[in-house]
Amino acid sequence: MEPRQNLLRCLPAIDRLLNEPALLAVAASCPHTLLVASAQEIVEELRQAILRPATALAEADLAPSAVATGVLRRVEEKMLPSLRPVLNATGTLLHTNLGRAPLSRASLMATAAVARAYSNLEFDLESGERGHRYSHVEALLCRLTGAEAATAVNNNAGAVLLALAALAQGKEAIVSRGELVEIGGAFRVPEVMAAGGVRLCEVGTTNKTHLRDYQGAITEQTGLLMKVHTSNYRIVGFTAAVPATELVALGREHGLPVLEDLGSGMLMDLSEFGLPREPTVREAVAAGIDVVTFSGDKLLGGPQAGLIVGRREFVEKIRRHPLARALRSDKLTLAALEATLRHYLDHEEAVREIPVLRLLAAKPAELKSRCQRLRRKLAPLVKDRADISIVPEPAAVGGGALPTTELPGYALALKPHAISVDDLSERLRHHRRPVVGRIRDDLLILNPRTVFAEEEKELLAAVAAALNA
Ligand SMILES: *Cc1c(COP(=O)(O)O)cnc(C)c1O
Repeated sequence: MEPRQNLLRCLPAIDRLLNEPALLAVAASCPHTLLVASAQEIVEELRQAILRPATALAEADLAPSAVATGVLRRVEEKMLPSLRPVLNATGTLLHTNLGRAPLSRASLMATAAVARAYSNLEFDLESGERGHRYSHVEALLCRLTGAEAATAVNNNAGAVLLALAALAQGKEAIVSRGELVEIGGAFRVPEVMAAGGVRLCEVGTTNKTHLRDYQGAITEQTGLLMKVHTSNYRIVGFTAAVPATELVALGREHGLPVLEDLGSGMLMDLSEFGLPREPTVREAVAAGIDVVTFSGDKLLGGPQAGLIVGRREFVEKIRRHPLARALRSDKLTLAALEATLRHYLDHEEAVREIPVLRLLAAKPAELKSRCQRLRRKLAPLVKDRADISIVPEPAAVGGGALPTTELPGYALALKPHAISVDDLSERLRHHRRPVVGRIRDDLLILNPRTVFAEEEKELLAAVAAALNA
Protein backbone atom coordinates (compact mmCIF):
# COMPACT_ATOMS: atom_id res chain seq x y z
CA MET A 1 0.00 0.00 0.00
CA GLU A 2 1.19 3.53 -0.82
CA PRO A 3 1.98 5.74 2.13
CA ARG A 4 -0.91 8.13 2.67
CA GLN A 5 1.24 11.28 2.40
CA ASN A 6 2.50 10.16 -0.98
CA LEU A 7 -1.03 9.56 -2.27
CA LEU A 8 -2.16 12.99 -1.07
CA ARG A 9 0.73 14.57 -2.97
CA CYS A 10 -0.38 12.74 -6.13
CA LEU A 11 -3.85 14.40 -6.17
CA PRO A 12 -3.90 16.53 -9.32
CA ALA A 13 -4.34 20.32 -9.08
CA ILE A 14 -7.62 21.68 -10.47
CA ASP A 15 -5.88 23.70 -13.22
CA ARG A 16 -3.97 20.66 -14.30
CA LEU A 17 -7.20 18.62 -14.47
CA LEU A 18 -9.03 21.21 -16.52
CA ASN A 19 -6.29 20.96 -19.14
CA GLU A 20 -6.85 17.24 -19.64
CA PRO A 21 -8.01 16.56 -23.23
CA ALA A 22 -11.29 14.92 -22.06
CA LEU A 23 -12.27 18.07 -20.17
CA LEU A 24 -11.01 20.53 -22.77
CA ALA A 25 -13.32 18.76 -25.22
CA VAL A 26 -16.45 19.50 -23.16
CA ALA A 27 -15.38 22.97 -22.02
CA ALA A 28 -17.17 24.65 -24.94
CA SER A 29 -20.52 22.96 -24.29
CA CYS A 30 -20.69 23.31 -20.53
CA PRO A 31 -20.56 26.30 -18.16
CA HIS A 32 -17.06 26.83 -16.76
CA THR A 33 -18.33 27.09 -13.18
CA LEU A 34 -19.94 23.67 -13.47
CA LEU A 35 -16.72 22.15 -14.76
CA VAL A 36 -14.67 23.66 -11.94
CA ALA A 37 -17.23 22.63 -9.30
CA SER A 38 -17.23 19.04 -10.60
CA ALA A 39 -13.41 18.88 -10.56
CA GLN A 40 -13.32 20.23 -7.01
CA GLU A 41 -15.92 17.73 -5.85
CA ILE A 42 -14.13 14.75 -7.36
CA VAL A 43 -10.73 15.78 -5.98
CA GLU A 44 -12.25 16.34 -2.54
CA GLU A 45 -13.96 12.94 -2.64
CA LEU A 46 -10.64 11.30 -3.54
CA ARG A 47 -8.91 13.15 -0.68
CA GLN A 48 -11.52 11.80 1.75
CA ALA A 49 -11.07 8.31 0.31
CA ILE A 50 -7.30 8.48 0.85
CA LEU A 51 -7.79 9.54 4.47
CA ARG A 52 -10.08 6.62 5.24
CA PRO A 53 -8.35 3.74 7.01
CA ALA A 54 -7.27 0.94 4.66
CA THR A 55 -7.84 2.93 1.47
CA ALA A 56 -7.86 0.84 -1.70
CA LEU A 57 -6.59 3.71 -3.84
CA ALA A 58 -3.28 3.43 -5.69
CA GLU A 59 -1.16 6.07 -7.40
CA ALA A 60 -2.58 5.07 -10.82
CA ASP A 61 -6.10 6.02 -9.69
CA LEU A 62 -4.88 9.58 -9.14
CA ALA A 63 -3.33 10.12 -12.56
CA PRO A 64 -4.85 13.28 -14.11
CA SER A 65 -6.37 11.35 -17.03
CA ALA A 66 -8.05 8.87 -14.65
CA VAL A 67 -9.40 11.63 -12.40
CA ALA A 68 -10.59 13.58 -15.47
CA THR A 69 -12.75 10.61 -16.47
CA GLY A 70 -14.52 10.83 -13.11
CA VAL A 71 -14.93 14.59 -13.49
CA LEU A 72 -16.42 14.11 -16.95
CA ARG A 73 -19.00 11.67 -15.62
CA ARG A 74 -19.92 14.14 -12.86
CA VAL A 75 -20.26 16.96 -15.40
CA GLU A 76 -22.56 14.83 -17.54
CA GLU A 77 -24.78 14.07 -14.52
CA LYS A 78 -25.00 17.77 -13.65
CA MET A 79 -25.93 18.67 -17.22
CA LEU A 80 -29.02 16.42 -17.17
CA PRO A 81 -32.27 18.22 -16.42
CA SER A 82 -33.56 17.38 -12.95
CA LEU A 83 -37.14 16.89 -14.16
CA ARG A 84 -37.07 14.46 -17.07
CA PRO A 85 -39.00 11.61 -18.63
CA VAL A 86 -38.82 8.16 -17.05
CA LEU A 87 -40.05 4.78 -18.21
CA ASN A 88 -42.90 3.66 -15.99
CA ALA A 89 -42.72 -0.14 -15.78
CA THR A 90 -44.60 -0.27 -12.45
CA GLY A 91 -47.96 -1.08 -14.02
CA THR A 92 -49.60 1.78 -12.11
CA LEU A 93 -51.38 3.91 -14.71
CA LEU A 94 -51.85 7.09 -12.71
CA HIS A 95 -48.67 7.05 -10.65
CA THR A 96 -48.72 10.35 -8.77
CA ASN A 97 -44.95 10.24 -8.16
CA LEU A 98 -44.37 9.67 -11.87
CA GLY A 99 -46.56 12.56 -13.00
CA ARG A 100 -50.00 10.88 -13.33
CA ALA A 101 -51.52 11.01 -16.82
CA PRO A 102 -49.28 11.21 -19.91
CA LEU A 103 -50.79 13.61 -22.47
CA SER A 104 -52.14 12.96 -25.95
CA ARG A 105 -50.26 14.11 -29.03
CA ALA A 106 -52.84 16.80 -29.72
CA SER A 107 -52.46 18.12 -26.16
CA LEU A 108 -48.70 18.31 -26.55
CA MET A 109 -48.98 20.18 -29.82
CA ALA A 110 -51.53 22.60 -28.43
CA THR A 111 -49.31 23.27 -25.41
CA ALA A 112 -46.21 23.86 -27.51
CA ALA A 113 -48.06 26.19 -29.88
CA VAL A 114 -49.38 28.33 -27.05
CA ALA A 115 -46.08 28.26 -25.16
CA ARG A 116 -44.02 29.39 -28.12
CA ALA A 117 -46.12 32.44 -29.06
CA TYR A 118 -48.57 34.94 -27.64
CA SER A 119 -52.14 33.69 -27.40
CA ASN A 120 -55.72 34.87 -26.93
CA LEU A 121 -55.66 33.58 -23.34
CA GLU A 122 -57.71 36.50 -22.03
CA PHE A 123 -58.43 38.33 -25.26
CA ASP A 124 -61.72 38.14 -27.14
CA LEU A 125 -60.89 38.00 -30.83
CA GLU A 126 -64.50 38.92 -31.75
CA SER A 127 -64.70 42.19 -29.89
CA GLY A 128 -61.00 42.94 -29.56
CA GLU A 129 -61.53 43.43 -25.82
CA ARG A 130 -60.55 41.59 -22.68
CA GLY A 131 -61.74 37.98 -22.76
CA HIS A 132 -62.05 35.21 -20.21
CA ARG A 133 -59.30 32.70 -19.41
CA TYR A 134 -61.69 29.80 -18.89
CA SER A 135 -63.83 30.47 -21.98
CA HIS A 136 -61.54 28.08 -23.87
CA VAL A 137 -62.78 25.09 -21.86
CA GLU A 138 -66.16 26.15 -20.47
CA ALA A 139 -68.35 25.31 -23.47
CA LEU A 140 -66.61 21.95 -23.89
CA LEU A 141 -67.03 21.06 -20.23
CA CYS A 142 -70.71 22.01 -20.40
CA ARG A 143 -71.27 19.97 -23.55
CA LEU A 144 -69.51 16.92 -22.06
CA THR A 145 -71.23 17.03 -18.67
CA GLY A 146 -74.59 18.67 -19.32
CA ALA A 147 -73.77 21.42 -16.80
CA GLU A 148 -74.90 25.06 -17.16
CA ALA A 149 -71.50 26.54 -16.36
CA ALA A 150 -67.93 25.42 -15.75
CA THR A 151 -64.53 26.68 -14.72
CA ALA A 152 -61.10 25.29 -13.85
CA VAL A 153 -58.38 25.79 -11.24
CA ASN A 154 -54.94 24.38 -10.47
CA ASN A 155 -56.04 20.95 -9.17
CA ASN A 156 -59.00 19.23 -7.56
CA ALA A 157 -57.79 19.92 -4.02
CA GLY A 158 -57.89 23.59 -5.01
CA ALA A 159 -61.31 23.17 -6.59
CA VAL A 160 -62.75 21.72 -3.37
CA LEU A 161 -61.12 24.39 -1.22
CA LEU A 162 -62.40 27.16 -3.48
CA ALA A 163 -65.92 25.75 -3.78
CA LEU A 164 -66.19 25.37 0.00
CA ALA A 165 -64.86 28.87 0.64
CA ALA A 166 -67.08 30.47 -1.99
CA LEU A 167 -70.29 28.67 -1.03
CA ALA A 168 -70.09 28.23 2.73
CA GLN A 169 -67.38 30.41 4.31
CA GLY A 170 -68.28 31.12 7.96
CA LYS A 171 -70.97 28.45 7.89
CA GLU A 172 -71.27 24.69 8.33
CA ALA A 173 -71.02 21.98 5.69
CA ILE A 174 -72.70 18.66 6.45
CA VAL A 175 -70.71 15.56 5.44
CA SER A 176 -71.21 11.86 6.12
CA ARG A 177 -68.68 10.24 8.50
CA GLY A 178 -68.19 7.58 5.84
CA GLU A 179 -66.79 10.20 3.45
CA LEU A 180 -64.17 12.04 5.54
CA VAL A 181 -61.45 11.01 3.12
CA GLU A 182 -57.70 11.46 3.26
CA ILE A 183 -56.07 11.48 -0.18
CA GLY A 184 -52.29 11.14 -0.57
CA GLY A 185 -50.27 14.31 -0.02
CA ALA A 186 -52.18 15.50 3.03
CA PHE A 187 -55.52 16.29 1.41
CA ARG A 188 -57.97 15.57 4.21
CA VAL A 189 -61.55 16.64 3.88
CA PRO A 190 -61.83 18.03 7.45
CA GLU A 191 -58.59 20.01 7.05
CA VAL A 192 -59.46 21.41 3.64
CA MET A 193 -62.75 22.49 5.13
CA ALA A 194 -61.01 24.27 8.00
CA ALA A 195 -58.65 25.97 5.55
CA GLY A 196 -61.67 27.17 3.57
CA GLY A 197 -63.19 28.72 6.69
CA VAL A 198 -66.03 26.21 6.78
CA ARG A 199 -67.08 24.32 9.91
CA LEU A 200 -67.44 20.59 9.48
CA CYS A 201 -70.65 19.00 10.66
CA GLU A 202 -70.23 15.21 10.59
CA VAL A 203 -73.31 13.04 10.39
CA GLY A 204 -74.06 9.31 10.38
CA THR A 205 -71.55 6.59 11.13
CA THR A 206 -68.55 5.18 9.28
CA ASN A 207 -70.57 2.52 7.46
CA LYS A 208 -74.09 3.95 7.37
CA THR A 209 -75.48 7.40 6.81
CA HIS A 210 -79.18 8.03 6.16
CA LEU A 211 -81.11 10.98 4.79
CA ARG A 212 -82.55 11.60 8.27
CA ASP A 213 -78.97 12.14 9.55
CA TYR A 214 -78.49 15.07 7.17
CA GLN A 215 -82.02 16.28 7.85
CA GLY A 216 -81.50 16.33 11.61
CA ALA A 217 -78.27 18.33 11.32
CA ILE A 218 -79.63 21.25 9.28
CA THR A 219 -79.77 24.55 11.24
CA GLU A 220 -79.42 28.28 10.36
CA GLN A 221 -75.68 27.68 10.52
CA THR A 222 -75.76 25.24 7.61
CA GLY A 223 -74.31 26.58 4.36
CA LEU A 224 -73.84 23.46 2.27
CA LEU A 225 -74.45 19.73 1.92
CA MET A 226 -71.40 17.86 0.71
CA LYS A 227 -70.70 14.46 -0.83
CA VAL A 228 -67.16 13.13 -1.25
CA HIS A 229 -66.22 10.24 -3.48
CA THR A 230 -64.35 7.69 -1.35
CA SER A 231 -61.72 7.37 -4.09
CA ASN A 232 -58.99 5.40 -2.43
CA TYR A 233 -60.90 3.05 -0.12
CA ARG A 234 -64.10 1.07 -0.04
CA ILE A 235 -66.53 0.48 2.77
CA VAL A 236 -68.07 -2.92 2.10
CA GLY A 237 -70.63 -5.06 3.90
CA PHE A 238 -73.41 -3.50 5.96
CA THR A 239 -73.39 -0.03 4.44
CA ALA A 240 -75.71 2.76 3.39
CA ALA A 241 -75.11 6.09 1.71
CA VAL A 242 -77.66 8.62 0.57
CA PRO A 243 -78.15 8.75 -3.20
CA ALA A 244 -77.35 12.08 -4.85
CA THR A 245 -80.97 12.68 -5.93
CA GLU A 246 -82.26 12.44 -2.34
CA LEU A 247 -79.56 14.75 -1.01
CA VAL A 248 -80.36 17.20 -3.80
CA ALA A 249 -84.08 17.13 -2.92
CA LEU A 250 -83.19 17.84 0.72
CA GLY A 251 -80.90 20.70 -0.32
CA ARG A 252 -83.62 22.27 -2.51
CA GLU A 253 -86.16 22.02 0.31
CA HIS A 254 -83.85 24.04 2.58
CA GLY A 255 -82.30 26.30 -0.06
CA LEU A 256 -78.86 24.73 0.42
CA PRO A 257 -76.41 24.02 -2.41
CA VAL A 258 -75.07 20.47 -2.73
CA LEU A 259 -71.37 20.05 -3.55
CA GLU A 260 -69.86 16.75 -4.70
CA ASP A 261 -66.13 16.04 -4.88
CA LEU A 262 -66.01 13.26 -7.46
CA GLY A 263 -62.22 12.78 -7.24
CA SER A 264 -61.27 11.17 -10.51
CA GLY A 265 -64.25 12.46 -12.46
CA MET A 266 -65.04 10.33 -15.46
CA LEU A 267 -66.43 11.78 -18.64
CA MET A 268 -67.39 8.39 -20.03
CA ASP A 269 -68.53 5.07 -18.65
CA LEU A 270 -65.41 2.92 -18.31
CA SER A 271 -67.23 -0.36 -17.73
CA GLU A 272 -66.46 -1.27 -21.37
CA PHE A 273 -62.85 -1.78 -20.16
CA GLY A 274 -64.04 -4.21 -17.50
CA LEU A 275 -63.88 -1.53 -14.81
CA PRO A 276 -66.53 -1.24 -12.10
CA ARG A 277 -69.44 1.03 -12.89
CA GLU A 278 -68.57 4.49 -11.52
CA PRO A 279 -70.76 7.56 -11.64
CA THR A 280 -69.79 9.88 -14.49
CA VAL A 281 -69.71 13.64 -14.09
CA ARG A 282 -72.76 13.85 -16.39
CA GLU A 283 -74.72 11.57 -14.06
CA ALA A 284 -73.85 13.69 -11.02
CA VAL A 285 -74.99 16.80 -12.87
CA ALA A 286 -78.16 15.05 -14.06
CA ALA A 287 -78.90 14.01 -10.47
CA GLY A 288 -79.09 17.72 -9.72
CA ILE A 289 -75.80 18.20 -7.80
CA ASP A 290 -75.23 21.96 -7.83
CA VAL A 291 -71.43 21.91 -8.02
CA VAL A 292 -69.25 18.94 -9.03
CA THR A 293 -65.45 19.01 -8.79
CA PHE A 294 -62.96 16.52 -10.26
CA SER A 295 -59.32 16.14 -11.38
CA GLY A 296 -57.92 16.74 -14.86
CA ASP A 297 -55.04 14.28 -14.57
CA LYS A 298 -56.70 11.18 -13.15
CA LEU A 299 -58.88 8.97 -15.36
CA LEU A 300 -59.77 11.96 -17.51
CA GLY A 301 -56.22 11.64 -18.86
CA GLY A 302 -55.32 15.32 -19.19
CA PRO A 303 -53.06 17.85 -17.44
CA GLN A 304 -53.14 18.64 -13.73
CA ALA A 305 -56.30 20.67 -13.16
CA GLY A 306 -59.32 20.95 -10.91
CA LEU A 307 -62.55 21.14 -12.86
CA ILE A 308 -65.69 22.70 -11.47
CA VAL A 309 -69.04 22.27 -13.22
CA GLY A 310 -72.60 22.98 -12.16
CA ARG A 311 -75.32 25.59 -11.79
CA ARG A 312 -74.43 29.01 -13.18
CA GLU A 313 -75.16 31.07 -10.04
CA PHE A 314 -72.77 28.92 -7.97
CA VAL A 315 -70.04 28.65 -10.58
CA GLU A 316 -70.11 32.45 -10.90
CA LYS A 317 -69.83 32.86 -7.14
CA ILE A 318 -66.84 30.50 -7.21
CA ARG A 319 -65.18 32.46 -10.03
CA ARG A 320 -65.56 35.72 -8.15
CA HIS A 321 -64.00 34.48 -4.89
CA PRO A 322 -60.51 35.94 -4.23
CA LEU A 323 -59.02 32.44 -3.89
CA ALA A 324 -59.89 31.79 -7.56
CA ARG A 325 -57.08 34.14 -8.58
CA ALA A 326 -54.62 32.34 -6.31
CA LEU A 327 -55.56 28.96 -7.75
CA ARG A 328 -55.82 29.89 -11.40
CA SER A 329 -54.71 27.61 -14.23
CA ASP A 330 -51.93 28.67 -16.58
CA LYS A 331 -52.13 28.85 -20.37
CA LEU A 332 -50.12 25.66 -20.97
CA THR A 333 -52.53 23.66 -18.83
CA LEU A 334 -55.55 25.21 -20.49
CA ALA A 335 -54.19 24.40 -23.94
CA ALA A 336 -53.62 20.76 -22.97
CA LEU A 337 -56.97 20.56 -21.20
CA GLU A 338 -58.92 21.94 -24.17
CA ALA A 339 -57.23 19.44 -26.52
CA THR A 340 -57.94 16.54 -24.13
CA LEU A 341 -61.58 17.53 -23.71
CA ARG A 342 -62.02 17.78 -27.50
CA HIS A 343 -61.10 14.10 -27.81
CA TYR A 344 -64.14 13.23 -25.69
CA LEU A 345 -66.51 14.74 -28.27
CA ASP A 346 -65.97 11.50 -30.18
CA HIS A 347 -65.95 8.29 -28.17
CA GLU A 348 -63.68 6.38 -30.58
CA GLU A 349 -61.24 9.27 -30.78
CA ALA A 350 -61.03 9.50 -26.99
CA VAL A 351 -60.19 5.80 -26.64
CA ARG A 352 -57.66 6.00 -29.48
CA GLU A 353 -55.91 9.26 -28.55
CA ILE A 354 -55.95 9.56 -24.76
CA PRO A 355 -53.00 7.53 -23.46
CA VAL A 356 -54.58 6.55 -20.13
CA LEU A 357 -57.65 5.14 -21.88
CA ARG A 358 -55.43 3.22 -24.33
CA LEU A 359 -53.48 1.71 -21.42
CA LEU A 360 -56.74 0.75 -19.68
CA ALA A 361 -57.97 -0.98 -22.83
CA ALA A 362 -54.93 -3.28 -23.27
CA LYS A 363 -55.98 -6.95 -23.21
CA PRO A 364 -54.08 -9.67 -21.27
CA ALA A 365 -53.33 -11.63 -24.47
CA GLU A 366 -51.80 -8.54 -26.06
CA LEU A 367 -49.67 -7.91 -22.95
CA LYS A 368 -48.51 -11.52 -22.94
CA SER A 369 -47.34 -11.35 -26.54
CA ARG A 370 -45.54 -8.05 -25.83
CA CYS A 371 -43.74 -9.80 -22.94
CA GLN A 372 -42.79 -12.67 -25.24
CA ARG A 373 -41.43 -10.27 -27.85
CA LEU A 374 -39.48 -8.33 -25.24
CA ARG A 375 -38.02 -11.51 -23.78
CA ARG A 376 -36.97 -12.76 -27.21
CA LYS A 377 -35.12 -9.50 -27.90
CA LEU A 378 -33.64 -9.31 -24.42
CA ALA A 379 -32.27 -12.85 -24.23
CA PRO A 380 -29.30 -12.37 -26.62
CA LEU A 381 -28.48 -8.98 -25.02
CA VAL A 382 -28.17 -10.30 -21.47
CA LYS A 383 -26.94 -13.85 -22.26
CA ASP A 384 -26.73 -15.77 -18.98
CA ARG A 385 -26.66 -12.74 -16.69
CA ALA A 386 -30.27 -13.12 -15.58
CA ASP A 387 -33.27 -15.43 -15.72
CA ILE A 388 -36.13 -13.80 -17.59
CA SER A 389 -39.59 -15.19 -17.10
CA ILE A 390 -43.12 -14.07 -17.89
CA VAL A 391 -45.50 -13.92 -14.95
CA PRO A 392 -49.18 -13.03 -14.50
CA GLU A 393 -49.14 -9.53 -13.03
CA PRO A 394 -52.09 -7.18 -12.58
CA ALA A 395 -51.85 -3.45 -13.19
CA ALA A 396 -53.51 -0.85 -10.98
CA VAL A 397 -55.25 2.39 -11.87
CA GLY A 398 -53.52 4.34 -9.09
CA GLY A 399 -53.79 8.03 -8.27
CA GLY A 400 -56.32 7.13 -5.59
CA ALA A 401 -58.87 5.95 -8.18
CA LEU A 402 -60.56 2.53 -8.22
CA PRO A 403 -58.37 1.16 -5.39
CA THR A 404 -59.74 -2.36 -5.42
CA THR A 405 -59.67 -2.80 -9.19
CA GLU A 406 -56.94 -4.94 -10.71
CA LEU A 407 -56.34 -4.94 -14.46
CA PRO A 408 -55.21 -8.47 -15.35
CA GLY A 409 -52.08 -8.88 -17.48
CA TYR A 410 -48.51 -10.14 -17.68
CA ALA A 411 -45.05 -8.80 -16.87
CA LEU A 412 -41.39 -9.68 -17.30
CA ALA A 413 -39.73 -10.99 -14.13
CA LEU A 414 -35.94 -10.62 -13.95
CA LYS A 415 -33.68 -12.53 -11.59
CA PRO A 416 -30.08 -11.30 -12.02
CA HIS A 417 -27.26 -13.79 -11.34
CA ALA A 418 -24.26 -11.67 -10.39
CA ILE A 419 -25.96 -8.72 -8.67
CA SER A 420 -28.89 -8.32 -6.29
CA VAL A 421 -32.38 -7.35 -7.44
CA ASP A 422 -31.95 -4.07 -5.52
CA ASP A 423 -28.74 -3.33 -7.42
CA LEU A 424 -30.45 -4.02 -10.73
CA SER A 425 -33.32 -1.75 -9.76
CA GLU A 426 -30.87 1.01 -8.79
CA ARG A 427 -28.92 0.70 -12.04
CA LEU A 428 -32.13 0.96 -14.03
CA ARG A 429 -33.05 4.15 -12.19
CA HIS A 430 -29.67 5.60 -13.13
CA HIS A 431 -29.98 4.84 -16.82
CA ARG A 432 -30.03 7.90 -19.13
CA ARG A 433 -33.75 7.21 -19.51
CA PRO A 434 -34.51 6.01 -15.98
CA VAL A 435 -36.63 2.87 -15.70
CA VAL A 436 -38.85 2.37 -12.64
CA GLY A 437 -40.07 -1.17 -12.01
CA ARG A 438 -41.34 -3.06 -8.98
CA ILE A 439 -39.62 -5.58 -6.72
CA ARG A 440 -41.66 -8.60 -5.68
CA ASP A 441 -40.49 -11.97 -4.28
CA ASP A 442 -36.86 -11.07 -5.02
CA LEU A 443 -37.67 -10.50 -8.70
CA LEU A 444 -37.59 -7.27 -10.66
CA ILE A 445 -41.01 -6.94 -12.29
CA LEU A 446 -41.34 -4.87 -15.47
CA ASN A 447 -44.98 -4.40 -16.44
CA PRO A 448 -45.42 -3.56 -20.14
CA ARG A 449 -48.90 -2.08 -19.70
CA THR A 450 -47.52 1.32 -18.71
CA VAL A 451 -44.61 1.23 -21.19
CA PHE A 452 -45.46 2.80 -24.56
CA ALA A 453 -44.59 0.87 -27.73
CA GLU A 454 -42.14 3.60 -28.76
CA GLU A 455 -40.32 3.19 -25.42
CA GLU A 456 -39.63 -0.53 -25.77
CA LYS A 457 -36.24 -0.07 -27.46
CA GLU A 458 -35.07 2.18 -24.64
CA LEU A 459 -36.37 -0.34 -22.06
CA LEU A 460 -34.35 -3.13 -23.67
CA ALA A 461 -31.25 -0.92 -23.86
CA ALA A 462 -31.59 0.01 -20.19
CA VAL A 463 -31.95 -3.59 -18.99
CA ALA A 464 -29.05 -4.74 -21.17
CA ALA A 465 -26.83 -1.91 -19.91
CA ALA A 466 -27.76 -2.55 -16.27
CA LEU A 467 -26.99 -6.27 -16.46
CA ASN A 468 -23.79 -5.86 -18.46
CA ALA A 469 -22.31 -2.94 -16.49
C1 LIG B 1 -57.58 12.87 -6.02
C2 LIG B 1 -58.66 13.44 -5.19
C3 LIG B 1 -58.56 14.76 -4.73
C4 LIG B 1 -57.37 15.63 -5.04
O1 LIG B 1 -57.31 15.90 -6.41
P1 LIG B 1 -55.98 16.57 -7.04
O2 LIG B 1 -56.38 16.84 -8.45
O3 LIG B 1 -54.91 15.56 -6.88
O4 LIG B 1 -55.71 17.80 -6.27
C5 LIG B 1 -59.60 15.27 -3.98
N1 LIG B 1 -60.67 14.51 -3.68
C6 LIG B 1 -60.80 13.23 -4.11
C7 LIG B 1 -62.02 12.45 -3.72
C8 LIG B 1 -59.80 12.66 -4.88
O5 LIG B 1 -59.91 11.40 -5.31
